[in-house]
Amino acid sequence: VLSVAGLWHSFAKSPVLKDISFEVEKGEIVGLIGPSGAGKSTLLRALCGLEKPDQGSVVLQGQDITTLAERDLRKARQNIGLVFQHFNLLQTKTVAQNVALPLKIAGWSSNDIKARVKELLELVGLGEHSEKYPAQLSGGQKQRVGIARALANAPSLLLCDEATSALDPQSTTAVLDLLSDINRKLGLTIILITHEMDVIRRFAQRVLVLDQGELVHNGAILDLLTRSNNPPAVQALLNET
Ligand code: ATP
Ligand code: MG
Repeated sequence: VLSVAGLWHSFAKSPVLKDISFEVEKGEIVGLIGPSGAGKSTLLRALCGLEKPDQGSVVLQGQDITTLAERDLRKARQNIGLVFQHFNLLQTKTVAQNVALPLKIAGWSSNDIKARVKELLELVGLGEHSEKYPAQLSGGQKQRVGIARALANAPSLLLCDEATSALDPQSTTAVLDLLSDINRKLGLTIILITHEMDVIRRFAQRVLVLDQGELVHNGAILDLLTRSNNPPAVQALLNET
């Protein structure tokens, strides 16, 4: 479903992503880890066209999004859901209005929006909370709204940047269970950045490790845990938990 090849990206001439290549199959759950500043968020942003790489391609369902003009890119982006660490909800809008936003942008009719929002909120277990405001929700509930919003346009790829990092262990488990559920039910492909090894162990089938902009591992989590030649920063990450 996703194929990244020879991706380079720099900020102010210093390279942040160095020749990144990998593939992700439909329905896979892939973890993305690495030390702070390794380039994880930049890579995720490049995958959805929010950063224009210097070189390389990001092919999503047969379409290289790095070459698309703004209008086509916006369309392609509807096929990608984004979930953020701090939820990025609009505080002055209700839960239902937050989830409706991407549908409004996509030009849906208000009747269709209403039905779709109801369906999405039921999917994430927030059917009862549609008229509340974000401030009235727990962290875990806020992230469920974030996930419902990300799923609004029925994307085939879900990108999560530290989606559970602001949550307590219980809410983390609940959100991961929800994502697993959605992965199974909808066949959704998920790429998830996390600094919690435990999340990777429980959730990801495969792990990508970035270190100083280089992809230093692409494979099973077990291989990473048992091999002896990890870069020091990566080993430190593994030893943390
Ligand atoms: P963290 O785990 O702390 O979130 P990360 O792996 O997500 O780190 P990135 O946010 O991708 O790291 O940043 C990679 C490098 O690029 C860092 O050195 C960062 O300072 C730099 N960087 C990121 N965004 C920008 C930007 N918009 N302008 C300039 N430099 C940036
Ligand atoms: Mg980051």
